[in-house]
Amino acid sequence: MFNVNSIREEFPILSKKFGKYPLVYFDNGATSQKPNFVIDRIDQYYKEENANIHRGVHTLSQVSTENYENARQTIASFLNAKEKHEIIFTKGTTDGINLVAHSFGALMSLGDEILISEMEHHSNIVPWQMLAEAKGLVLRYIPMTTSGELDLKNIDTLLNEKTKLVAITHISNSLGTINPIADLIELAHSKNAKVLIDGAQSLQHIQVDVQALDCDFLVFSGHKIFAPTGTGILYGKEDLLNKMPPYQGGGDMIKTVTMEKTTFNSLPHKFEAGTPNISGGIGLGAAIEWLSQLNLNEIEVYERSLLQYITAELSKIEGIRFFGTAEEKCSTVSFLIGEFHPYDIGTLLNQQGIAVRTGHHCTQPIMDFYKIPGTIRASLSFYNTKEEIDLFIQALNKAIKMLS
Ligand SMILES: *Cc1c(COP(=O)(O)O)cnc(C)c1O
Repeated sequence: MFNVNSIREEFPILSKKFGKYPLVYFDNGATSQKPNFVIDRIDQYYKEENANIHRGVHTLSQVSTENYENARQTIASFLNAKEKHEIIFTKGTTDGINLVAHSFGALMSLGDEILISEMEHHSNIVPWQMLAEAKGLVLRYIPMTTSGELDLKNIDTLLNEKTKLVAITHISNSLGTINPIADLIELAHSKNAKVLIDGAQSLQHIQVDVQALDCDFLVFSGHKIFAPTGTGILYGKEDLLNKMPPYQGGGDMIKTVTMEKTTFNSLPHKFEAGTPNISGGIGLGAAIEWLSQLNLNEIEVYERSLLQYITAELSKIEGIRFFGTAEEKCSTVSFLIGEFHPYDIGTLLNQQGIAVRTGHHCTQPIMDFYKIPGTIRASLSFYNTKEEIDLFIQALNKAIKMLS
């Protein structure tokens, strides 16, 4: 069975204390903590391997290039990508979406349509609004139901022959809803539209197989899956990436440059201009290697038990309102209590060692939908425990008493 205590020992920060209070880290939706395996790998890189990649004849450069490219292979295998060069290193989810918006967006023309949803993170809304504005495209969205699920009632008109791209989140960061992306991908393909999946909240909770899903693009951030900040991945199907123009120009993405004309490098380098975050990319590879050694089915079962427990315990609190009550959810709960301001609750929880997020979670349209300014969000990872949930509930009851 899944042994949470041995997992916790791999994360040095989890034994941190604030005075008498142990850290209870329930802000995994914002970023994850890092295991020693990843921290040590980055440490080793700087102590023993540091050199620029794809450039040098010298040994260190060869070693760092090989390790960086091995990380790419590890990630390709984890996602079950057909080809290693379908994996593009980015700075994160936001960077990956902007890359697709610029580059795939360059292939779109006046009147073409893009379909998103009402529950997207701002980074899967704003780049499409900017693109639509610049190129005269039509941006539509799938509305939400009160349970925080996609309302697919009008999907046949929203997704039509003019739709060129559907960009949708796999799991909502504020509500925890797991969207039926396989069905949406199939439907989109039947109308010849391509699909981008925002996977920022998915790989740390559930298994993702890009070939089984048949998605055209998938983006995610390293820092949410136990890897360093400033790292991320864009997966794209080879034929699509080949058709797309480069996003940024510079070193490494070229084959030849004269003062008159440049020919571009092949995949994946065409989309990786300049010196990348080498230690970060290697750290991301290490995080995925670490994650692959765990039993992802056991993790899913364990996280589901955490979700059930925290939901049941929170339900006992008078005046609680949950936001996001979908059938299919990951281990994230968003809620308000009576008329208390989320920020006040968050502050009092923090004084008791508990880290949650309060506010709109970069999803203002969701808050507008519920007509609330924000929520308190507890987003749990598989290194969290039922004992921590007990501490959280105790602290929450104390906060309510202090504010009453
Ligand atoms: C965090 C998040 C993003 C943005 O990720 P960055 O790492 O800030 O680029 C986008 N979408 C979802 C669903 C997220 O949770």
